[in-house]
Amino acid sequence: MGAVREVAERGAFTLGEPVAEFEREFAAYCETEFAVGVSSGTEALALALRALEIGPGDEVIVPSNSFIATAEAVSAVGATPRLVDVDPESHVITAEIVAEQLGPRVRCVIPVHLYGATVDLEELLALTREAGVHVIEDACQAHGAQCRGRRVGSAGVFGCFSFYPTKNLGAWGDGGAVVTSVAELAERVRLLRAHGEQPRYHHRMIGTTARLDALQAAVLRLKLARLEDWNSERRRLGATLRERLASECADAGDALELPSAPFAQADHVYHLFVVRSAQRDALREHLAERGVASAVHYPTPIHLTDAYASLGLERGSLPVSERLAGVICSLPLFPGMSDADLDRVVEGVGSFVQARAS
Ligand SMILES: *Cc1c(COP(=O)(O)O)cnc(C)c1O
Repeated sequence: MGAVREVAERGAFTLGEPVAEFEREFAAYCETEFAVGVSSGTEALALALRALEIGPGDEVIVPSNSFIATAEAVSAVGATPRLVDVDPESHVITAEIVAEQLGPRVRCVIPVHLYGATVDLEELLALTREAGVHVIEDACQAHGAQCRGRRVGSAGVFGCFSFYPTKNLGAWGDGGAVVTSVAELAERVRLLRAHGEQPRYHHRMIGTTARLDALQAAVLRLKLARLEDWNSERRRLGATLRERLASECADAGDALELPSAPFAQADHVYHLFVVRSAQRDALREHLAERGVASAVHYPTPIHLTDAYASLGLERGSLPVSERLAGVICSLPLFPGMSDADLDRVVEGVGSFVQARAS
């Protein structure tokens, strides 16, 4: 591949021209002034928090129904995640939920645009502005999704992205980016990701090693050019799957509940197509027997993981997240999925629901 050969011939394997070019293109795509390439989505979140000088003694509101990385980034900077529950239909946080959780130590909220759907930030931003609390968007599952006419990641002070290979925009390894339109904050993340160094051997602040590789940037530039097409395909597949399952599984009751449609002026780029079923494990077994792979994102809400037992949030404390963990099921959905693949998913889920109904 030409882009890989070029990096090899230049011999500059971290940062460099490919990263700078990707950063310009990704910022333009996200409709922000700046993008800073980093080594992962988790580092993107942690460096955004550090750039805002959030640390020991501070609390950051994080939904318990997310990938654990959202909370880990908070812990990594020495702050404490304040894990909160989510809306039972959309599976994400709302302004109402956050309003109840704001307290004197809360300095930041991290809404997670989960499964490729978007958190409605309008009310939330009004609330946090008034309270003097920052918003960092975790857009690791929603590259390119739009909400009220703007891209995710562009409404908060920072937007954070992962380029883990399975994400909507994936590298050939780990990678991530922070986007922002505040020049000073972009500069801080730029310094933090590479030992606070500017210029060479002049260390302005205590940073770390969290750079984006030139090879990954070269791959990401090529893939970014196709992201709009891939997302369109995901939207089309998601809408088709929703329609076909709705007609196939009418009256399914709690044997099958479809993902809620995006609210008006919102988008869904279907990183994942997540249904709910009261008989989730039986559904997954039925699908596996028909060669349909499924998964659970995620089987344990963050507050019930061993890692976060020290927060002391017991079973029953965040009931919606806990209930969801027992009923959610991610069905196959990916660009390039054939009509036959789609038929197999609809048939598999349909036959399960009909067997339960009869
Ligand atoms: C993938 C993901 C992350 C972390 O990204 P990495 O690149 O794996 O570090 C953070 N938050 C969410 C919601 C994710 O899905």
